Amino acid sequence: MQPSMFNLRVPLPERGEVFLMNTMSDAQLVVSADVAGLLDNLPSPDEVGRLGADERAALTTLIDHGFVVARPDADRERLERFFRMTREDTSEMRVTLLTTLQCNFACGYCFQGDHGDYNKYAHKMSLETAARVGDWVEARLDELEPEKLALTFFGGEPLLNLPVMYYLSERLHAAGERRDLWMLINVITNGLLLTPEVVDRLEPLGLNGVKITLDGDRATHDRMRPLRGGQGTFDRILANIRRVAGRCRISIGGNFDASSVQSYPALLDFLKEQEFADQIARINFKPVITPAAPGKTAVIPLTALKRDGTPLQSTCMTSAGAGSSPCDTCHFVDEQMEFLRRETRRRGLPTLDGVHMGPCEIHRRHAYTIGPDGALYACPGFTGDAGMSTGHIDGRTDPRQERTARRFDALAPWRKCGDCSFIPVCGGGCSFASHTELGDMDTPACHKSSMESALVSLAHDVAGAT
Ligand code: SF4
Ligand code: SF4
Repeated sequence: MQPSMFNLRVPLPERGEVFLMNTMSDAQLVVSADVAGLLDNLPSPDEVGRLGADERAALTTLIDHGFVVARPDADRERLERFFRMTREDTSEMRVTLLTTLQCNFACGYCFQGDHGDYNKYAHKMSLETAARVGDWVEARLDELEPEKLALTFFGGEPLLNLPVMYYLSERLHAAGERRDLWMLINVITNGLLLTPEVVDRLEPLGLNGVKITLDGDRATHDRMRPLRGGQGTFDRILANIRRVAGRCRISIGGNFDASSVQSYPALLDFLKEQEFADQIARINFKPVITPAAPGKTAVIPLTALKRDGTPLQSTCMTSAGAGSSPCDTCHFVDEQMEFLRRETRRRGLPTLDGVHMGPCEIHRRHAYTIGPDGALYACPGFTGDAGMSTGHIDGRTDPRQERTARRFDALAPWRKCGDCSFIPVCGGGCSFASHTELGDMDTPACHKSSMESALVSLAHDVAGAT
């Protein structure tokens, strides 16, 4: 017998207890210091019979919850099996659809949007391509027979291409009904074109939620996310949220940098006062992904979206890393993210716990991202680079795409994470961030310090509820 490598513990001295978590089984226990101490002095098989009744019961609880494993290699085997099962899971098929790469904003941190002639080059899905996407998704549904289909509309600004969004929602909803599966629709939007009509049209088709981006309080947001002419967008977005609140779940996201992070508590205060506050399903902020200025280090360097003077086709940087995992690698960012999560929780608003951050979509074979031209990607982060496409809905592939698909198949940055206890809830971090920053997606993008401080908050939340 030995302690599992996935054990984490947080002392709770004010209660004389210890919070224990096993990241593989997700067991979370608040136990006495004596019980936690058992993990440091596990009895040999011969000694178990000599334990008192209480100690034996405590040991059984620890074994049942995965805190104690029988063999030294048992954890490694479980880890390999866990990632294999995650990768091959067919119970849920996820499709992220980029209806267009055009955008009606001119965010300073994004090369996309209404800057210069970007929208002239940016792809927009045609109805003819959407029909082929529908064929492709239906063929996958017949092959995989999932219980659930999760469809996410994204861009650019997805609401700039409503005909494609409505067509695919209606078609795949009908396809889901014929196959008796549960379909969910999510929309990630800047919120400017969000109307009750859009929500009412999608709601009977399975609308699960709408995620809207607010970059700080009014003044900061208007500076960070203006229209091309410089006009602010905060008030118009808030008016739209008020009109749809109560009709669908709302999530709020936001992108911060060093100049804006301190304005987020004011945004949280503002949200807390709104009539729709109790309809907010989740709030989560993350760092701006931006290229380094000459001589400076970027918070998160951005894949260059303009090469040889021609804009590349890329996804909205609002949500790169929008799965369940933030795409950060910087210590400064770790601290700020935990600060914002704490501030959100303090106001009674829902947010991520900061510990359960993965494995993200890139570790799932049946989570697909489809660009406006029908190209397939392993996750939304890589749509900025046609060289990282893994295939096409038409079934045509070239040797480069086949090589790329094989690289994603073998992707396992967590194998380089040694005996880190967070591996099952992290997976080695955001591979897109590693690819962008380090040029190697198989290198872990580690945000362990953020997870460690989030673990302390989780421990106190769990202890407070017991
Ligand atoms: S690799 Fe990064 S961008 Fe891609 S799904 Fe994972 S967290 Fe998101
Ligand atoms: S990236 Fe860091 S926190 Fe995540 S599993 Fe690897 S070492 Fe642990």
